[in-house]
Amino acid sequence: MPITADPALDESVQTALTACGVTPSMLGGDHEVTTPLTGQTVASVNMASVDDVSAAIERADVAFRTWRDVPAPERGQVVKRWGELLTEHKVDLAVLVQAEAGKVTSEALGEVQEMIDICDFALGQSRMLYGRTMPSERPGHRLMETWHPIGVVGVISAFNFPVAVYSWNTALALVAGNTVVWKPSPATALCSLATDALLARAIAECGAPSDIHQLVITNPESAAPILDDPRVALVSATGSTRMGKEVSPRVAARFGRYLLELGGNNAAIVTPSADLDLALRGIAFAAVGTAGQRCTTMRRLIVHESIADDLVERLISAYGTLTIGDPRDEKTLVGPLINEASFTAMQDSLDQARAEGGKVITGGRRVLADENPGAYFVEPAIVRMPRQSQVVHTETFAPILYVMTYSSLDEALEMHNAVPQGLSASIFTQDITEAEIFLSARGSDCGISNVNIGTSGAEIGGAFGGEKETGGGRESGSDAWKAYMRRATNTINYSGELPLAQGVEFL
Ligand code: NAD
Repeated sequence: MPITADPALDESVQTALTACGVTPSMLGGDHEVTTPLTGQTVASVNMASVDDVSAAIERADVAFRTWRDVPAPERGQVVKRWGELLTEHKVDLAVLVQAEAGKVTSEALGEVQEMIDICDFALGQSRMLYGRTMPSERPGHRLMETWHPIGVVGVISAFNFPVAVYSWNTALALVAGNTVVWKPSPATALCSLATDALLARAIAECGAPSDIHQLVITNPESAAPILDDPRVALVSATGSTRMGKEVSPRVAARFGRYLLELGGNNAAIVTPSADLDLALRGIAFAAVGTAGQRCTTMRRLIVHESIADDLVERLISAYGTLTIGDPRDEKTLVGPLINEASFTAMQDSLDQARAEGGKVITGGRRVLADENPGAYFVEPAIVRMPRQSQVVHTETFAPILYVMTYSSLDEALEMHNAVPQGLSASIFTQDITEAEIFLSARGSDCGISNVNIGTSGAEIGGAFGGEKETGGGRESGSDAWKAYMRRATNTINYSGELPLAQGVEFL
């Protein structure tokens, strides 16, 4: 497939890399990094071998022995400085996120803002790695728990949030006293190098051990030591459910810990009382934002039969106003798909939907192909389905919104929870009873459940993650830090006697 070279893009990528501290020696190698904006190659990098990955684990393990003894608030200073550097280089890093992941400018900047936010959060957390004390049943005894670092954390990340997800993991893992080995998606190697270079600078300026972070850009095969090496205490893996199915049994086989953030198939229920103007905006952002390439993208709309035609008409009109194209253009709302395979997968799902009785009522076609033969821009699609058929149960990583109708809330909830994934959910309603049922034990079965906002665009303060095939992990805010630490329960006897618990007598 021919590509359209864009020298301005090459130049902006090189400028951003240099500004973030990526030196020419870090570039050049056997892996070509292409941009979804045009399809052109913007740089090349070296792919790490199995031995390189093992060596990175070794270095991180050695550094851990020093880092674990550094007081947590002092560890927080590294993350604080990283956040400052990310703030300073927000635009540079966003340029790289945009070039590699194809995000529109505000979303690329938003991704970096998320990194800055988690650094703030983790800095505070570095003074709040709280353990509890509990009343002991024995006189003269104290019962308490302490939280300790676990060791090397392996972070595997996906192309669509190429740097934010890494920072959620790393900011918390570092304040927890761990060291990190990061395997990003090779598709987003450049923003990974830039993120890593900024962290290296923060570490150096704070006088922390240089090996507490390791970057290994590589393919799944060469990443094997991250899964298999017992020195990697936790593998935090973000990506497809297919990837999670490969990774988790390998880590479990050696009794390692894993934290999985996998695919979603997120739905909104729209009830008769919903504010349709608000619902429309919430649905459009969640279904179309990032060209449907978020794990939290809204893929299913379950609408009460009395309002479905009206809502669908409004959605078709809203979709008609979307600007699709070069994400660097401020007016653009929908950038490219990541690659041709993604476009093909979208077309295959639309064909399957038609075969299962669905009707594509808007979108689905490739656009701008003549001007951009190497890029895959698509019109976001809306498909009315007679029922929640097989294709609706799968995650297609592209902007397809399947619309189904319901007549009772119980029926809507049953449809909502019938898919194998369990990441994010929404209800649009003005009826407090419906909202509370949706959030109750018999409501949404997802890790994230919202009222009157869409399924995507989470803040870092809450725990992020989902149930079922989404993997069960939680990252980012709330008490997600506990996943990166081990808990020890301590009993201290200052009684001078040796009373046994449960009244047991011995000797
Ligand atoms: P992917 O599964 O193809 O790749 C994700 C990462 O896993 C990449 O770094 C890849 O190289 C690596 N990988 C794949 N197989 C591996 C193996 N056997 N061993 C080691 N590493 C392996 O996913 P993608 O296309 O990059 O991203 C899109 C997917 O990620 C979607 O399914 C999306 O829903 C999911 N995702 C989930 C979340 C979440 O928080 N739940 C966030 C972002 C993306």
